[in-house]
Amino acid sequence: MVVAIQGTKSGKVVIKNIGLMLSGDLDAPILDADTIVVNDGIITAVGRYKDCDTAEAKTVIDCRSTAVAPGLIDSHVHPVAGDWTPRQNQLNWIESSLNGGVTTMISAGEVHFPGRPKDILGLKALAITAQRAFSNFHPAGVKVHAGAPVLEKGMVESDFKELADAGVKLLGEVGLGSVKAGAEAGQMVAWARKYGIQSTIHTGGPSIPGSGLIDKDVVLEADADIIGHINGGHTSLPYKQVCELCERSKRGIELVHNGNERIAILTARHATELQCLHRVILGTDGPAGSGVQPLGILRMITLLSSLADVPAEKAFCFATGNTARVRNLDDCGLIEVGRSADFVFMDRAQQTAGANLLESVQLGDIPGVGMVMIDGIVRCQRSRNTPPATEIPVIEH
Ligand SMILES: [Zn+2]
Repeated sequence: MVVAIQGTKSGKVVIKNIGLMLSGDLDAPILDADTIVVNDGIITAVGRYKDCDTAEAKTVIDCRSTAVAPGLIDSHVHPVAGDWTPRQNQLNWIESSLNGGVTTMISAGEVHFPGRPKDILGLKALAITAQRAFSNFHPAGVKVHAGAPVLEKGMVESDFKELADAGVKLLGEVGLGSVKAGAEAGQMVAWARKYGIQSTIHTGGPSIPGSGLIDKDVVLEADADIIGHINGGHTSLPYKQVCELCERSKRGIELVHNGNERIAILTARHATELQCLHRVILGTDGPAGSGVQPLGILRMITLLSSLADVPAEKAFCFATGNTARVRNLDDCGLIEVGRSADFVFMDRAQQTAGANLLESVQLGDIPGVGMVMIDGIVRCQRSRNTPPATEIPVIEH
């Protein structure tokens, strides 16, 4: 088990010779810069090496002309406790995702908790426990925003105030519990919003035996902040309904790996036509029946770039800056001064037909991860999960 380094600060870190810097910002996805300076986990400078104060660094990383992007954010996971998932009874699935470039995860509900309490006191207690536990413990350094209660019938406004006062900031996927009707869900989503709790709704057919259908009318009436897995998880709504959701709602459009891939591609194309790519965010919806997906976010980026004609540098923004903005996370998702030094270092995979990283992604090959950093601290070097990167960064000291 990999244990996070608690309380350790990075000191000054200089990252130089960056060949391609992806910003995470859809409006300007490539930065004209080759150097990042970090102090105690926070980005303090981004620019050309000669213009940056690089003296007396504790750590110097030579990127050897490889690419750096903000650490990837998985907008949709189902954690339970630490780095264990009972869904597939697997250990270290979060650390495995770190090897796929993921540095932040957002819980869509701790629904796989064995014996999950469904009474209101119990579901609140579980949410508060998950929020506390993942705040105190970052598996392999990955920041997991958890504590996302699953709505059950009978909850009243004071329950949402109580949850918010206790530090809960998310709802689990609306529709996974007993609240499945649009009006009832809409009332609870509004209470959550009033107290600063963000909401996601399950969209599409049932995920596993026991869950139910949430169709476009329920999604529109509930009006949750995120249209969770709009491409289904797994079973999608008919494409016409998905189009209607994109057109009639202004909320986040979440595409997941554990969903209908054809609809994911069509939705990205439709969002391009509607000029609303800034709403598109990515998740895995793992762990799930289809397993743990350590490369799920990289695979979604590659899928959408290669088959929905999204330029690769923009597809990376779906999983970084877009998610941070839509999810109200102001500490990650962009390479800019003041954000956390959470980065994924990549290069074209060995033997890809693509001449460089972006071309390889557009041709459908996932990149090789050469290093992942969280809070300015190197958490893994050459990924044990991606195809090997052609070139990898070197830690000079
Ligand atoms: Zn779902």
